[in-house]
Amino acid sequence: MTAIHRLSQDVADAIAAGEVIERPASVVKELVENALDADARRITVDVRGAGRTSIRVSDDGHGIAADELQLAFTRHATSKVASLADLQAISSLGFRGEALASIAAVADVECASGGARIHLRAGELVDEGAGPLLPGVVIEVRDLFANVPARLKFLKSDATEVAAIRDVVSSLALLHPHVRFQLTVDGRTSVATTGDGDRRRASAALHGAAVATEMLEIVGMPLVTGLVSQPRVSRGSRDWIVLAVNRRPIASRSLLYALEECYQGRLERGRHPVAVIDIGIDPELVDVNVHPAKREVRFREESTVFAAVQRAVRAALGGSEPFFYRAPAYAPAGDHVLTTVAAVREPSVAFALEEIVPAPAAIATKLRPLGQVGPGYIVAEGPDGLVLVDQHAAHERILFNRLLARLHEGRGMSQQLLIPAAVDVEPALMAAAIDNRAELSALGLELEEFGPRSLRVTAVPAEMPASRATKAVQESLAALAESRSDGAIEKAAAALACHSAVRFGDLLEMAEQRRLLDDLEAAEDSVTCPHGRPTRLVVEWQDLVRHFRRNY
Ligand code: ADP
Ligand code: MG
Repeated sequence: MTAIHRLSQDVADAIAAGEVIERPASVVKELVENALDADARRITVDVRGAGRTSIRVSDDGHGIAADELQLAFTRHATSKVASLADLQAISSLGFRGEALASIAAVADVECASGGARIHLRAGELVDEGAGPLLPGVVIEVRDLFANVPARLKFLKSDATEVAAIRDVVSSLALLHPHVRFQLTVDGRTSVATTGDGDRRRASAALHGAAVATEMLEIVGMPLVTGLVSQPRVSRGSRDWIVLAVNRRPIASRSLLYALEECYQGRLERGRHPVAVIDIGIDPELVDVNVHPAKREVRFREESTVFAAVQRAVRAALGGSEPFFYRAPAYAPAGDHVLTTVAAVREPSVAFALEEIVPAPAAIATKLRPLGQVGPGYIVAEGPDGLVLVDQHAAHERILFNRLLARLHEGRGMSQQLLIPAAVDVEPALMAAAIDNRAELSALGLELEEFGPRSLRVTAVPAEMPASRATKAVQESLAALAESRSDGAIEKAAAALACHSAVRFGDLLEMAEQRRLLDDLEAAEDSVTCPHGRPTRLVVEWQDLVRHFRRNY
């Protein structure tokens, strides 16, 4: 451990300045980061009164030497950087030397380490002396913002402040699975990880076993490690997405976009993945000294990182499994409790974790169609069990993939319409048609201007029934006009696929059913249709066995 020292003025001036202690969660973040920087293996956080009454953090790291304790609480005092050059390659979470001083300025703080003890209030030394001989550091922050009522007034409800604290601890726990984290809120355990180094087990502790077993691991990819959820698990918010650089959680709109773009066509609108993504990068290639709270970073080569994230996530998503129907099961031995889906799958986390076998090839062997049921489901037998296929969603996926392949090759397959169809369009759609003429043609759509508000469709994708041309053109142009982002042409392709696909309710010959199933099995990303809806549901043999009590 290096000695703590005051930074020279030029180094202090080079550090992103600004207030970092905005709320109780910022205190927790700074103190936990300090413990991690001290190589702690156990970090315990105890919060009372939503962090306003007290926040106590103890760790078993290398601690602060008795004769440096007072210095640690002065501004610009740090053991982590010394020179301007050090700021070019920061490998610790902290480097500003401000956190302890800032916290002590707005609270009543007691800290013990290395056999010494110090007590400060509102920035003034109250008392110091001998303390208990403990490993690491114990620090307690009481009456936060008692001397800055304005700051107190800006705090949100207790529930919100506690949630923010939990988020901070959760993110760091997911990124540091080899550290044992414990967070208690008013005496009740909120987070408890084992610290055994297994990220999936950390995910189980934070997200629940049912989610953790569904996470796909990013392995063998340059720069990126982590876990991402497969399409059958999603959330209505982004609050379970953790992005990090060298295990430092960061806020990054562009990397968030990189991640979520990989889920386009796999999740329905408004749904978001669960993810922990850590970018391990040479500290010289990333500047963390751009934001006082160290939340934002600047990459020297942002596009390389963006591409690495997408490659890693897409590779992991290749292991996505179809949606399974989970029969609720009765516990054996006459127990009448109807257990939940998760409980059936995961009798215990440890057991469930052993069970995880990524099964991208789960339905590699042929599906055998048995017929149609209901308005538009194909029933089939597969190697894993009974399979119900949504014929429209499945066909949509097949056609969408085909259209995209043609788009990438730049060669559309179209059929000329015997009688060109006239389509009335608004100016925005007209503009979209003109701007994207080449791409639309690669998708098989040939359009001609026909007056200021009208288009003539002369050819449509090979698979599209001519009668649907009008609607298909309007919808795909609307998709182009609406989203001007990278995904716009894909959305247009999805609209064309939708109007080319068999409809839910169409009668299919056995041979047509068979071809559809064969094509579905061969298709990439076939778990969902291009709008993110499932293409099929698998009722596994083992679930039938369980349901019919053939297992005992
Ligand atoms: P920074 O983390 O930016 O260096 P802080 O104000 O957070 O600044 O901490 C000041 C110094 O106190 C650190 O550089 C470190 O040497 C020491 N320190 C703080 N917390 C701990 C801890 N939990 N364990 C060991 N040393 C600590
Ligand atoms: Mg610090």
